[in-house]
Amino acid sequence: MEYTQPQLPYDNDALEPAISARTVDFHYGRHEKAYIDNLNRLIKDTIYADMPLEEIIRQADGPLFNNASQAWNHIFYFFTFSPDGGGEPAGDLRRAIDRDFGSFDDFKRKMVEAGTALFGSGWVWLSKDDNGKLFITQGRNAENPLRDGLIPLLTFDVWEHAYYLDFQNRRADALNALWSIIDWDVVESRY
Ligand code: MN
Repeated sequence: MEYTQPQLPYDNDALEPAISARTVDFHYGRHEKAYIDNLNRLIKDTIYADMPLEEIIRQADGPLFNNASQAWNHIFYFFTFSPDGGGEPAGDLRRAIDRDFGSFDDFKRKMVEAGTALFGSGWVWLSKDDNGKLFITQGRNAENPLRDGLIPLLTFDVWEHAYYLDFQNRRADALNALWSIIDWDVVESRY
């Protein structure tokens, strides 16, 4: 199997000002593309060549894990956004957020706090377990909650490459800007 990078369902400048066209160009067009190219090179003629990507993430270590997980994480991240996003979640996901975090505002605050408190590069995740209970977790570097038996619903990339062109050192501002472009229909469909 050879992975190809899916085309984003919006123009590169469509997420401004939360994420600039320049950041989409570099982050999706170059960083994400490199992870996919590396993944293809690392699985070629190995037992991983025809393994589902999520299974590679669960099983692999080292460079293969890093590139497989980063390839998956970035597609998951960028396909959560929409120029028509923002607002608030509804339905079962909203009820679970209110139940497990107190309120939507409390959830947003805890998600951003987890992202700003992560030292170095990584991801902050909203995930659910098999019972629908929600968790906010931090993952260093390429870490993915799939490794812990959780089902990812939403992620914020807190690597500096995700926000430095637009927000420099202001990571909290970069994360708070994302609330305006989240497509909650996508997140609800994952729940
Ligand atoms: Mn990234």
